[in-house]
Amino acid sequence: MCGIVGYVGTKSVVPVLLDGLERLEYRGYDSAGIAVIGETGELSVRKAAGRLSGLVAVLKGRAPEGHVGIGHTRWATHGRPSDENAHPHTDCSGSICVVHNGIVENHAELRRELEAEGHHFDSETDTEVIAHLIESELRTDRSISPEDRLLNSSRRALARVHGLYAVVVLSLGAPDVIVGARRRAPLIVGLGSDGTYLASDIPALLGNTRRVIRLEEEDLVAATTHGVRIMDQFGEVQNRPIEEIEWDLSSAEKEGYPHFFLKEVNEQPAALERTLAGHLNDGKLNLPELGGIDVGRVRRIVLTGCGSAYHTCLMAQYALEDWLGIPVDAAIASELRYRHPTFDESVLCIAVSQSGETADTLAAFELAGAGGAQRIAITNTVGSAITTMADAVVLQQSGPEVCVVASKTFTGQIAALFLIGLWLGEASGKLASSVRDEVVSHLAEIPELVRRALNAADHAARIGEGCAHLDRLLFLGRGIGYPTALEGALKLKEISYIQAEGYAAGELKHGPLALVEEGTTILVVATDSPILEKLLSNVEVVRARGGHIIAIASEGDDRILEHADEIIWVPRTIEALSPIVNVVPMQILSYHAAVARGCDVDKPRNLAKSVTVE
Ligand code: GLU
Repeated sequence: MCGIVGYVGTKSVVPVLLDGLERLEYRGYDSAGIAVIGETGELSVRKAAGRLSGLVAVLKGRAPEGHVGIGHTRWATHGRPSDENAHPHTDCSGSICVVHNGIVENHAELRRELEAEGHHFDSETDTEVIAHLIESELRTDRSISPEDRLLNSSRRALARVHGLYAVVVLSLGAPDVIVGARRRAPLIVGLGSDGTYLASDIPALLGNTRRVIRLEEEDLVAATTHGVRIMDQFGEVQNRPIEEIEWDLSSAEKEGYPHFFLKEVNEQPAALERTLAGHLNDGKLNLPELGGIDVGRVRRIVLTGCGSAYHTCLMAQYALEDWLGIPVDAAIASELRYRHPTFDESVLCIAVSQSGETADTLAAFELAGAGGAQRIAITNTVGSAITTMADAVVLQQSGPEVCVVASKTFTGQIAALFLIGLWLGEASGKLASSVRDEVVSHLAEIPELVRRALNAADHAARIGEGCAHLDRLLFLGRGIGYPTALEGALKLKEISYIQAEGYAAGELKHGPLALVEEGTTILVVATDSPILEKLLSNVEVVRARGGHIIAIASEGDDRILEHADEIIWVPRTIEALSPIVNVVPMQILSYHAAVARGCDVDKPRNLAKSVTVE
């Protein structure tokens, strides 16, 4: 998780670091810190628990001067969020310092060994062992140049680390260099006219340069004012391609919306258009990226992801099973990786990860590959770890999502999954052409339906404000409305902290009905479906016990009228595609409940984006 920045060049380093950290703060905000090598050769470290504003206050009037430095915003995994545990962390001599994203899995063992050698630790973090390991390795390194000494010592130190990392290192012994390295966590180089940048994400670089290099797995880099030298884990020098980034900083800014969440919810029509563009033209499916998939081999499909991405898998499970007539399972990646699933050549595993770096999803995907399964990845992030593992990659093209909570990337993932499902149905000959044509024509109009759902958002907003005082809210659905209810409940709890639970309505009588009493509020996903009547019977059971019903219903469907106290009408589509439309009022409702409760919508407590830890 966390955000990393580094800079070496001709500009004053502190403003560069703070600007980068501000753009990365969504990745973690338990603490922030910087380290700077000054003109007179001293290393200054400043850090503060809490948000970046705490560090800014510490630096006010007392910012160190220099042109080389590193910075970090933390999402704690080992050790409390505190000043001591804030990064950067230093070695015993105070001359080497590191920032780290990830987890050192064997930190306890390494710490014991290092302490036995006489190293002294100042923090509870796993990260600090890296600084001491480099210190140890430097003592015995015989490389001639200071840059090589730091690079080679870092490489050997990191070879002793189990787990995942993006690391950036600063050393007084090589004051004109910053060294970076990555393993299953992203690290990007920015090449500027005034120096060289390192960062864990592109938005942190965009204010300074558009020329970037995405480091590859286990790469190390030595960055100086004039450029970079990259080597692989074996010490071999490597050339990595330079990319020109076309999207601009304004797309990573709020554009007048009070929160990124609301901006990103409103970007959904355009984002969906991008997901569909090129893949669906004049009723024809076009997915050349799946050309390498051998459809004839596929007897079973396993869909996997975490959080909202897992909900998209559940939605696709309902649709793909119906379209393809083969078993389709949706599995939570963090569970799948520790089960003993039977992956073999007949399985197609489709993994969904916005960042492409979600640790649990990567692990489950790896397991699928090891068993011989074919693998398709859906991600929003070009060049991310998952793209290097997959046989085929479908990029959802939703654009950068800054709010920690998923919105446009969620609906984009559903669209991407359905495109893949349609393609599989076509390629295998299993999908009846009448069904195919119906789904394709409705999918093409989905961005417009979402636009209409957003235009009618006022009613959902008012209902959301009305929900702000609630302690809990139950979300119900049946069929594909069930995972929609799960996503609605997740949105509400993530951003408003109202306890929310999503349930399959048919399950009510098996337990959750005990929660219902006079005035209990229940949101029902009740758009048109073949089992709407059954759902409405479940709703009546709740009403008989005094439940207050908010329903999301298809425009013009009068069947709901006598079953609900409040109705949010949404444009009609086919059942399979209904989650993309139905989630919109739930996003809006959750947002307005959260704002009315004074919650920090874009950065909910305890959460962070790109969950690169287990
Ligand atoms: N494991 C490290 C820590 O807890 C780094 C966590 C992060 O990625 O922010 O400090």
